[in-house]
Amino acid sequence: MLSNASGSATDLRQVQRNMHLLLLALKLASKRHPFRLTLDQKFRHLLEKLYHQFDWFAAAHLAERKKIIHCKPGCSLCCYHYVDSVYAFEILNIYGHLKSRSDFEILIRECKSRYQTYIALVETHRNHSSASLEATEEYVLEQYAQLKLTCPFLQNHLCTIYEWRPFSCRAYFSLSAPHFCQPNMIYAASRKTFLIQASHRSEKIGEEIDLNMDGFGHNEGGLFAGIVKFANLADASL
Ligand code: SF4
Ligand code: SF4
Repeated sequence: MLSNASGSATDLRQVQRNMHLLLLALKLASKRHPFRLTLDQKFRHLLEKLYHQFDWFAAAHLAERKKIIHCKPGCSLCCYHYVDSVYAFEILNIYGHLKSRSDFEILIRECKSRYQTYIALVETHRNHSSASLEATEEYVLEQYAQLKLTCPFLQNHLCTIYEWRPFSCRAYFSLSAPHFCQPNMIYAASRKTFLIQASHRSEKIGEEIDLNMDGFGHNEGGLFAGIVKFANLADASL
């Protein structure tokens, strides 16, 4: 749930500064303890604070721009999308929380299945098109949504990893009625979405933190691929 934020310019600048400092602290923490399959408690605590600041920033940003959003609990048509552009450290944080869940194995299987579907779409499109990588990604993400495969973490229309959901989920809002979030409405002229974008500087620090992930390498394939990758690394380390 978004906090009650007024959105004054001073508040926005202050929270941007807070986020920047938290990212630098995360970078330092990741350098001191390069992570492999777990995040240390300090890192998790800092990330929690960063998510909190980001949610506040999103609310203040929407208020400042006088944007009225239609997003509310139980509204989940946006969770048909493939969850792309997620930092590896965010995925490791989610993976850490999943491990204690009784449906852990099912979730891993579902993440694998979603990733395989996504990759099959990428390969089919590459074989039949000379489009650029960027255009292919955009096309494939649209095609994936049409399949109406819900995110494995969605249960009873609610996100079961809400507190740890990645920035890419936190940043996405609809300015039009939820009806327009259905996959078949992607091209509707009346559909209006709003994405809160972090500064280029913040994104860069996020990428630098990912580089401190020992043995993980560059994360391609978004949230579902990353979860499967961590599960495989955990199996291999037994
Ligand atoms: S983006 Fe659309 S489907 Fe998702 S919560 Fe907002 S209004 Fe609902
Ligand atoms: S992680 Fe949560 S918010 Fe994001 S797509 Fe999955 S269920 Fe929806």
